Amino acid sequence: MPATHANESRLLIKGATVLTMDPALGDLTTGDILVVGDRISAVGPELSDPAAEVIDARGMIAIPGLIDTHMHAWQTPLKGLHASGWTFDDYQSRVFCLREHFGVEDIHDATLAGSIEMLDAGVTGVLDFCHNVMSPQHAEAALNAHRATGQRTLWAYGMLGDLDGSPQEDGWRLDHIRALREETGDGGLLRIGMALASIERGSMGRIDKEIGLARELGMRMTLHQNPAGQIRALHEAGLLGPDIVPAHANAADDEELELIAACGGGISFTPECEFGGGRSMTVLNRAHRAGVTPSLGIDTPARVPIDLFAAMRLTFLLMRSVDAFDEREAGRYPLTRRPGIPMVEPRHMLEYATVNAARAIGLGDDLGRLAPGQLADIVLVDPEPYGVALGDPAAHVVLRTQPRDVDTVVVGGTVRKRAGSLTDLDRADAGAATRAVRERIFADAGSAPQGVAR
Ligand SMILES: [Zn+2]
Repeated sequence: MPATHANESRLLIKGATVLTMDPALGDLTTGDILVVGDRISAVGPELSDPAAEVIDARGMIAIPGLIDTHMHAWQTPLKGLHASGWTFDDYQSRVFCLREHFGVEDIHDATLAGSIEMLDAGVTGVLDFCHNVMSPQHAEAALNAHRATGQRTLWAYGMLGDLDGSPQEDGWRLDHIRALREETGDGGLLRIGMALASIERGSMGRIDKEIGLARELGMRMTLHQNPAGQIRALHEAGLLGPDIVPAHANAADDEELELIAACGGGISFTPECEFGGGRSMTVLNRAHRAGVTPSLGIDTPARVPIDLFAAMRLTFLLMRSVDAFDEREAGRYPLTRRPGIPMVEPRHMLEYATVNAARAIGLGDDLGRLAPGQLADIVLVDPEPYGVALGDPAAHVVLRTQPRDVDTVVVGGTVRKRAGSLTDLDRADAGAATRAVRERIFADAGSAPQGVAR
């Protein structure tokens, strides 16, 4: 399949409302997108190309493909296990403890299931934080699954070994990631990145070594950032940079957010898991104010659905809610509009999930906008049969769209979903993979959770 992705095919999307997310092009009420090979060649009204395959997109809204910047695809078959999770111990004892029961085949099938579901839901790109690399073969299996689905992936090789952070765990992972990086390069749909060990479970010395290798190899990095003070610690160690995407960062204070902004960095916010995990919810308003570029993620499918539209919707409502709380606290109620308040419009969320996310995964110049020269990752949203919202079409996308409304998905110029159906992947394969993983890991673990028949 990857060979057919690198084609010089020509595709013409006709008559959509085009949200380019490009400051120079803006929105086109009715416009066309011409794709040649894996990139967008032209965007404008009344384009023609007799050699192109034409997609009639009248009545639809074209957006850049959505990009999830914090996802653990290996947990896809564990849907529901963390639904009512409350404490970190719940997560450890219900979800993370199953890590050791994932064999090589399980990692492959779980990743495949997650990637198919993401593509179906308009998520053309993902930063897959794989903290279940228990052998080199596990890593190869996850990569093979991503190769099979053809989703645009920054696969972040998890450095986390034993939860006690034994430094001797490092060696083979560092050697293997170097080999993988050299083998995979940095130009295709699949790129290798690094998921740093959690600082609280390792040491700054260990993190320093990991970051050193990632920078030597030119790899993007990400890390779970939950305890307070870690951003400052990275800065003081001279390690903070825009090539690291901290996930969550709820506990970062304003000064730490300014440090991230000063180096041109972003954070990945995962609204449903932040809500469910009981974390402070003010970080995005503070980050937005500090000039950080936020992006969005699902985090664990064990807790929440694979739905970036929901993530955008919840984040918008949350940020409005935090603004209103601050206004009430300051005695300004009933609410009035004043400069900078409210802070965001629905369209900002689309920017988070496209432009900002592309920057987070290191493709800020090439991805995230519908503009000539950009990689052709495109989603068509169909507002029918119930009708498009009045007003800003970006608000329809952010507040009224669900994965089932994704009519067409294009990744790197190749049509992966059309008229609501995946073209070269099968939803049933994702379901079968999920069932197979469950059967194997719960047999290995010696027990399975109670509930509906699997
Ligand atoms: Zn996570």
